[in-house]
Amino acid sequence: MGAPPIYLDYLATTPVDPRVLEAMLPFFTRHFGNPSSATHAYGWAAKEAVEGARAQVAGLIGAVPHEIVFTSGATEANNLALKGAAEFHRSRASHLLTCVTEHKAVLDACRRLEGQGFRVVYLPVDRRGQVDLGQLEAAITGETILLSLMAANNEIGTLHPLERIGALARGRGVLWHCDAAQAAGKVPLDVEKLGVDLLAISGHKLYGPKGVGALYVRRRPRARLLPLLDGGGQERGLRAGTLNVPGIVGLGMACELARRELEEEARRLKHLRQHLWQRLSVRLEGVEVNGHPEERLPGNLHLSFAGVDGAELLLALPELALSSSSACTSGSAEPSHVLKAIGQSLPASLRFGLGRFNTEIEIDTAADLVAAAVGRLRARAGEHPGFHRRPGLAGSDN
Ligand SMILES: *Cc1c(COP(=O)(O)O)cnc(C)c1O
Repeated sequence: MGAPPIYLDYLATTPVDPRVLEAMLPFFTRHFGNPSSATHAYGWAAKEAVEGARAQVAGLIGAVPHEIVFTSGATEANNLALKGAAEFHRSRASHLLTCVTEHKAVLDACRRLEGQGFRVVYLPVDRRGQVDLGQLEAAITGETILLSLMAANNEIGTLHPLERIGALARGRGVLWHCDAAQAAGKVPLDVEKLGVDLLAISGHKLYGPKGVGALYVRRRPRARLLPLLDGGGQERGLRAGTLNVPGIVGLGMACELARRELEEEARRLKHLRQHLWQRLSVRLEGVEVNGHPEERLPGNLHLSFAGVDGAELLLALPELALSSSSACTSGSAEPSHVLKAIGQSLPASLRFGLGRFNTEIEIDTAADLVAAAVGRLRARAGEHPGFHRRPGLAGSDN
């Protein structure tokens, strides 16, 4: 067997940080108690660990611990925010606002609500993937319950203008739910500065375990929700079910580490990303950077290539673990709703998701492999079509 591929798909999932795993292990065996067991030390120890983790998660986003509700991940947190708020306010209003580039967990929850009689408006984005604030404001009506707008896009990495969105939503008396599965732990997020009411986090996107996440639910002024699940009344009635104690402990430690290391790691990843782009762009023409040149996740580089087929490109790169997306249905891959929304029509795209354990040597290797593969495929296809250069990343020299 050859060496394992270089992992460049940290936006799909991350490995559990060894420090996170170490924190979790005792809670599978020695401290296996149910945090709802109030009558003995096993339950007390589990409860104490869960409350410690709640404080760690809150600490990452500037919340207070009792505003954190543990869930099975960001998908559940998004569903709880959208359906919970819509249900709670059903008798008062029936309108929701979101954006075409949201994650499926938000878009599909919105579709479900449309089936139940709610009206949903899907805002467009510009070529860099940002919403227009004027359009957003114009779409708010007296009937609008909630705006669901993500912090960072999971494909192209674009960050929306978050503080201005929060001010706008607050000014118009609309709840703002933010899917921060990609942004949490990667860029600074403070719920008070943002003025956000609900915010979703996922464990496995920030070096915690899979199957655990959290929803921040603002206390003042209170964001009101109905629960999705009925049962034992855990999480102050908002999320019934015995708590996933090891997972929650892992999520807490992951948030703690992210908070401590965020600034330095963001700087390191930005540098690696620039390095990757530079090394690629000196070797290749006909490459476009998707997303915003500055307002983007530090570890995300999303590129579209002229003159190659998307599926063939991925096949030509077995040494790299990467994600691809296409804007059209030419290949077998499903077209990307995000690339369509930004008007990207080139046939092949690669999403580089750089993360905590990537090294500069890996990035050098990846750049060389991609440049060689694209060159090979273009040579094989003969003349590649003419292409126009679009601006690259800010801070690079082309
Ligand atoms: C990964 C992701 C989700 C889903 O999170 P899970 O914890 O896997 O359910 C939701 N939104 C975004 C933006 C994501 O990147």
